[in-house]
Amino acid sequence: MKKILRINLSTQAFNFEEVSPQYSQLGGRGLSSSIVSAEVPAKCDALGENNKIVLAPGILSGTNVICSGRLSIGTKSPLTDTIKESNAGGAVAAQLARLGFHAVIIEGCASESTLMAITKDGVTFNQAASLQTKGNYECLEILRKEHGDDVGIISIGPAGEMQLKASAIAVSTRDHHLRFAARGGVGAVMGSKNLKAIVINDAGGPGVTPANKAQLDEAAAALAKGVLSHPLIGGLKGLGTPVLVNMINSTGALPTKNFSQGTFESAEKLSGEHLAEIIAKRPNAKASHACMKGCVIHCSNVLTDEKGDLVCASIEYETLALLGSNCMIGDVEDVARLNHACNDLGLDTMDVGGAIAVAMEAGKIPWGDTEAALALINSIYDGQTAGKMIGNGAQFTGETLGVKRIPTVKKQCLSGYDPRVLKGTGVTYATSPMGADHTCGNALPSPANPDYNPGASTGQAPVSKFLQGYFAAIDSLGLCLFASLPILDIPELKQHIIDCASAVLGQELDEQYVEQLGESVNQTERKFNTEAGFTKDDDRLPEFFTKEPLPDNNAIFDVSEEELDSVYPA
Ligand code: SF4
Repeated sequence: MKKILRINLSTQAFNFEEVSPQYSQLGGRGLSSSIVSAEVPAKCDALGENNKIVLAPGILSGTNVICSGRLSIGTKSPLTDTIKESNAGGAVAAQLARLGFHAVIIEGCASESTLMAITKDGVTFNQAASLQTKGNYECLEILRKEHGDDVGIISIGPAGEMQLKASAIAVSTRDHHLRFAARGGVGAVMGSKNLKAIVINDAGGPGVTPANKAQLDEAAAALAKGVLSHPLIGGLKGLGTPVLVNMINSTGALPTKNFSQGTFESAEKLSGEHLAEIIAKRPNAKASHACMKGCVIHCSNVLTDEKGDLVCASIEYETLALLGSNCMIGDVEDVARLNHACNDLGLDTMDVGGAIAVAMEAGKIPWGDTEAALALINSIYDGQTAGKMIGNGAQFTGETLGVKRIPTVKKQCLSGYDPRVLKGTGVTYATSPMGADHTCGNALPSPANPDYNPGASTGQAPVSKFLQGYFAAIDSLGLCLFASLPILDIPELKQHIIDCASAVLGQELDEQYVEQLGESVNQTERKFNTEAGFTKDDDRLPEFFTKEPLPDNNAIFDVSEEELDSVYPA
């Protein structure tokens, strides 16, 4: 029988709770958002003691379903002031599921920097003075030495300890790399609770027992076969998400020079193809790497230097766009160094990339100056004001420096897709409960859907609405987004997901399951945001996207406000 583990950091107490019927069929984002919505006052200080952190494995986490080990981290965001779910790959979701935890709810604030250890027996609390101010990689090494190679580790870097609003939470992989729940300042919430790290040891846990194992085995095998049949997977396997650099640049939607251009003359030097050539020559480097057990896609990568020492793992498209082209930095190895610095400090590379580009626009540092950008990021270790400004994200940096063109929605920086070209994605940026976030519903052109025109000024709301529901459901199942993309092009694969969920939950789910799950998650999140004071006026892109044409294609974001409002009618 699954349990909810509730931990109070103020009293250093914990208890196991029965899973109430309202939560029993949920997991991942659906579960974390439901708990946050029910237990966190919508108007509370996100960095105060009334906020909570919810760790929720997906509905399918811990099973043999491919790519099903995403960990949802739910809270109220100090960056956006909205509800927030930020999810990460790595080993921890499956470990928590194997321990029999439906969710872990962390509340209160510790009086000093704290390390928690979670096992089948519960929680121990230890002082974390020796870890304080240490970067995520040193923390990982120290905790592995103390607790062994098989534990999972969740940690924050100095940025989270300083409660900077673009700080992330690191989640370890089985082979001791780090993945990040990057968005919305979730690391700052952990820092506000004086919680430096959590060690998870699943030894002796009850494991995951699906209600119908035979049905699950059959559906999981069919899903894996179907996903692998999609041509996109070959590209992701070989080049990872950086495969998108050339593709998005060729559509004119690659954020460049603080979203003032949609193409970058040095895009080739940031591309997945170029990165793969470098990786092929480096010892210990990997063009293809799995961030979790059961991944059949292997979209991650590991870049090393000539000696074989780690430079960065993993380099993703969104980082290449925001810290690369958007800052006019046209060298993939330069971006990798910036990326690794952000990882160690525990920062969202997208919001930090947006912030640095805004600082470049303000003339604080020159365009394309990698060393100046790196110095700015690393100055956070010393608590310098300029570094902390960057660590608080693009909105804070723009307001501090008096920059008018700030590419944020609900104070969160846009991702690597210019909404003037990809207008369905623009609708998602504007209306998602999370603030600007491509993972909530990225409406990319697809050869399998030639009728969809991402540049049309009408008809984008239904596309965004459908995708927002779809990906809310995928996040609730604990599935990696990349395993879910083929299902959009091969609709018959959706039944395999429904069969997997049916087999785990022990009930026959109907063909509307995915849509209904996603819709209910979005409604729960929108309700929280309404109670927090958000209105339709917050569901808008920054004005410059509607007025300032991209130079290459003259595109502006011209989806009407009426159409934006139709995504979530009152
Ligand atoms: S496809 Fe990539 S992000 Fe998804 S589970 Fe595999 S390695 Fe992780």
